[in-house]
Formats: sequence, structure tokens, C-alpha cells
Amino acid sequence: MEKIFIVHYGEVGLKGKNRSFFEKKLVQNIRLSLKDIGYTEVRRIYGRILVTLQAEADVVAIRERLGKVMGIAHFELACAAALDIEAIQAAALAWIEDKRFNTLKVETKRANKRFPLTSPEVSAAVGGYLLKHTGAKADMHNPDLRCNIEIVENSAYIYTDKIRGVGGLPVGVSGNVLVMLSGGLDSPVAAWRMMKRGVKAIFIHFYSYPYTDKASLEKVEELAQILATWNYQTRIYLVPFGEVQREIVTKTPAPFRVILYRRMMVRIAQRIAAAAKANALVTGESLGQVASQTLGNIRVIEAVAELPILRPLIGDDKVEIIARAEQIGTYETSILPHDDCCSLFVPKHPATNASLAAVREAEADLEIDTLIAQAVEAVETRTIDPS
Ligand code: ATP
Ligand code: MG
Repeated sequence: MEKIFIVHYGEVGLKGKNRSFFEKKLVQNIRLSLKDIGYTEVRRIYGRILVTLQAEADVVAIRERLGKVMGIAHFELACAAALDIEAIQAAALAWIEDKRFNTLKVETKRANKRFPLTSPEVSAAVGGYLLKHTGAKADMHNPDLRCNIEIVENSAYIYTDKIRGVGGLPVGVSGNVLVMLSGGLDSPVAAWRMMKRGVKAIFIHFYSYPYTDKASLEKVEELAQILATWNYQTRIYLVPFGEVQREIVTKTPAPFRVILYRRMMVRIAQRIAAAAKANALVTGESLGQVASQTLGNIRVIEAVAELPILRPLIGDDKVEIIARAEQIGTYETSILPHDDCCSLFVPKHPATNASLAAVREAEADLEIDTLIAQAVEAVETRTIDPS
């Protein structure tokens, strides 16, 4: 019996050119997700996508991969039958035989109007046949088992269970963003949330080596590797930040340090964003979580931004963020200890509500353009392929 997956996507707001762009991207991403795992073809038909499988394909593994493709609303494992009512009856019986149920309902959709029976006629013919051979009863309202039949161009497809997809939009349809990835809990989750809205994430990480060890570099590469499951091939920009911090520590008042680090990060990130064709920056900030994430400080940091700074976690609680990190698999890596570049030289009493004027004055002695140029000059990139 030939097995296939039928993939459905949300259609709200999808019209004209956007729709075909969205569908093509989804097909492309499904192919990337399944590239080493036994599909024969991924193609679009009638507002859905069919994934045909090799005879030996690992159905469980494919199911798991499809569950991680952004843009899939739900999908089903189905079997194919020839376009002939007796073939459909036999295939439907074989498909449901080993399931346990007392009541049953057959539902049919007919996209191929040349098939001689109407949808209700197919449901009646297959329903009658299944009831006779299984001893089950019909129940039109609350059946134990729903047997769905779809009649398309060259085949009929039969399936029973809908599997929920992750939803959202296919990665890539919304353009690129540059995610500031720290190695902590929040920023990987922020990246995932934005990927779910169809962006391709590119990462930037600031590290203080040799002032700290290299643990944060290893962590961000590992996090990027995990996130590549959704994001596919993933680029990381690694920016040495130790010299910038040293300048800030020697030339500016202690309470403003974290804010000044952040303003420098944003300035440097914008330069990288231009090179990476990213239209926004993304951070893992959540309002009030730490001193630098008060509204007042966010405002002062954002004042240097020329690109939008997106903060998908701004209204989330820590417990919500942790639950999501566990779900997407970044939690274990994120909680490994590392020296955060911003915990380096951090003052005892950071400012929580600095004024823009005071911060600008504090920055007056910094050679900002030179520091940006030096950091950009020393950037290294890594490319990570999904494992
Ligand atoms: P996270 O858990 O994501 O590290 P956090 O709770 O530690 O966040 P902060 O250290 O205040 O919060 O960082 C706020 C945001 O700034 C991070 O979510 C991240 O987007 C960005 N950020 C902080 N440090 C770095 C860094 N070293 N490199 C890149 N981005 C960073
Ligand atoms: Mg952090």
C-alpha cells in the first residue's frame, strides 16, 4: 500500500502572488527537512502539499520532521488507492483494520469532479462496506473513528488521524532578521518565535574572550545548531567585544555600563544587519526581567537604533519562556554555565532608569565610530547546517 503525507497550511490572508510564494517556500522547506530521509516527491495540489514516500521510508521520523516545519497547520498520514470505488473500499478497510473503534463515520472530499460518484455517494458506498466488514456502527456526530477520503486527479487518499503542525509561516517568507544571541535562555526562544512568523534568522553574538573563556562561543554554536532544525542553514556572526567593554569601563561611569554595552551592541549589529540584508534586530528581552530591561532603559538603548528592534518575549514570564525552551530543545544548553560578556565588569548598582541626556554625556569620551569599525573588522562568521 503506497503511503503519503498530506500537508495543510493556514490560508488566511494568502492571495495571489503571496500565496504561490508561500507555497513554494513551504515545499522547499519540506524538502530541506526531509532531505536525507526517504521521500520520493513533494508537490503541490489543490491547496495542499503531498509528500510521497519511498517504500522503506521511516514514517515515524518523517512525521517528527514535518512537525517542525513552520507553516504547516496540520498533516495526515494517508494511503493511496486507484480511482475506483472497489479499490477505495478495499484500501479503506485495510487502512482501518487494526484500529479499535465501535462507531465510524466516512467523510469524502472530491476535488476531481470527473470521478463518477459524488462525495456523499462515495461516503455511503465506503461506509456501508466498512460497517459490513468490521461490525462497527455508524455515528454521524461523535464517531470513535473518522475515515476521510479525498478524491484527487489520479488517486484517492484515505486517512484517519489529523496531526497538528507547528503553524505559523514558512521560514523565509518574511525576510531576514538579525537575532542577538547571548547563550542565555531567552534569546534562542525569541529567535524561534520569530522563525515561526516566517523570518530567516541570522545570528550575532558578542563575546569577551580573552577576558572570559570560550564557553559562550561553544554555547551559541550549539544553540544555533538546535535552531537550525527550523531555520535550516544558519549563519552566525561572532563579534569580539572585549575591547569595547574595556573602553567603556575605563572611560564611563559605572552605573551606565550595561546600557552603554547594549548601545554599542545595537550600533555594531546594525552594521552587520546591513551586510546580512536583515530588516530588523531581535532580542530576548522581557519587560522588567533584569535592570537593563526596564522601559526607561529599553528606550535609551533603542535611541541608537535605526532598524526596528523586535522583542517577541517582551510580555512573557520566565516560566513561559522556560517551557518554550524545553519544548524546542534549547533549555539544557542555555542553562550550562558561561561567563556572559555583560556580567563582565558589571557594576553593583546598575542604573534602572537612566535619562537619555545622562547616557549621551556618559558616552561623550568614547570613540564610538572607531570602536564600531574595529569590531566590525574583526567579525568572524560560521555557517551551521541542520544536523
Ligand atoms: P538571554 O537569556 O537571552 O541571555 P538575559 O535574560 O540574559 O537574556 P540580557 O543579558 O539583559 O538578558 O540580554 C538581553 C538581550 O540582549 C538578550 O536576550 C540578547 O538578545 C541580547 N544580548 C545580551 N548579551 C548578548 C551577547 N553577548 N551577544 C548577543 N546578544 C546579546
Ligand atoms: Mg544574557
